[in-house]
Amino acid sequence: MAGVYVHIPFCASRCSYCDFFSTLQLEQTGADYVEAVLAEAQLRREELHGETVRTLYLGGGTPSQLPLPLLSRLAAGLGECFDLSGVEEFTVEANPDDVTAAWCEALPPLGVNRVSMGIQTFEDDILRLIGRRHTASQVEEAVARLRDTGIDNISIDLIYGLPGQTITSWTDSVERALALTPQHISAYGLTYEEGTRLWWQRERGEVTEVPEEQCLEMYRILVQSLQRAGYEHYEISNFALPGYHSRHNSSYWNDTPYLGLGAGAHSYDGEVRRSNPANLQEYIDKVTAGEPAFEQEELTQMERYDERVMLGLRTARGVDADRLRHDFGETAWQHFTREAKPHIAAGHLRVTEDVRYVLTRDGIMLSDSIIRDLMWDG
Ligand code: SF4
Repeated sequence: MAGVYVHIPFCASRCSYCDFFSTLQLEQTGADYVEAVLAEAQLRREELHGETVRTLYLGGGTPSQLPLPLLSRLAAGLGECFDLSGVEEFTVEANPDDVTAAWCEALPPLGVNRVSMGIQTFEDDILRLIGRRHTASQVEEAVARLRDTGIDNISIDLIYGLPGQTITSWTDSVERALALTPQHISAYGLTYEEGTRLWWQRERGEVTEVPEEQCLEMYRILVQSLQRAGYEHYEISNFALPGYHSRHNSSYWNDTPYLGLGAGAHSYDGEVRRSNPANLQEYIDKVTAGEPAFEQEELTQMERYDERVMLGLRTARGVDADRLRHDFGETAWQHFTREAKPHIAAGHLRVTEDVRYVLTRDGIMLSDSIIRDLMWDG
């Protein structure tokens, strides 16, 4: 089983908090870029070792900015390169203001069965402040349009800890999100990434950071509200109605190989991590000349151990003790159990009947420090 990710590095404008790789050059380079991605797919198809592609994910950037002929060309070209007959989940990321009736109608014939929308919050003044192009009411319209055209697997992204957000306004945003009954919700605490516009605004004192204790309270409210509404909290930042866990993202967390195509995309085959340049022209030039654009790094045994521990503890399935011991040996296992002991005693970590180490509800609030302790190189 494998996943294929395609990075679409185009946005209509830049949000103030964002440090993802994206550009505003869709008009000039969009068509060349799609051809470059398809050339890269041909070059690298063998990296999947004949595994069935189970998930396909177009992320960004803003994939919904791609004009429909380019989106169709991309989907058709990927279908010529990989056997997509076993794809269970084909997700496209979208901004709510791009979700027109024509866009929605184009998706099912391409095989798209899931849309993930960057909503962030339902507070219009904050949306404006952080440079988002949409409004809260556009989100509601977008969800209705998707459902009208039969796309009924919808994921939304939220951010808490945004400047100006209060416990009351966040609670209201969570309630408005729940009223839309999306199948999946991802929620992340805001981070001020160095060099972003928002980071500079904070440096100049133009925006005030929400205190950490308040962010934790927002997270608690989120977890409680979503669980009460029937969502499974299956990863620290991810919640789903039963049967709607993100299969693609789950493959990142459980060591399934994935191939990442496009500028700035990453791939992992279980041992080697490959990263494409976050530079549009360099990427296009290399892959259209028939050269792979990536740099690669073979993970050491201990780096793989760290990855297993970090990703495993973020999920509700936790870390499988037998597999950890089998794959990484006695020394790593002794380190893990020694470091786990005080966290178990404090009630932050528990061992399940089938011997998996899982963070407790209190442990989730302290996940960063617990994960650091259990990692080899934490
Ligand atoms: S739309 Fe997404 S990728 Fe583009 S700037 Fe905003 S947050 Fe970043």
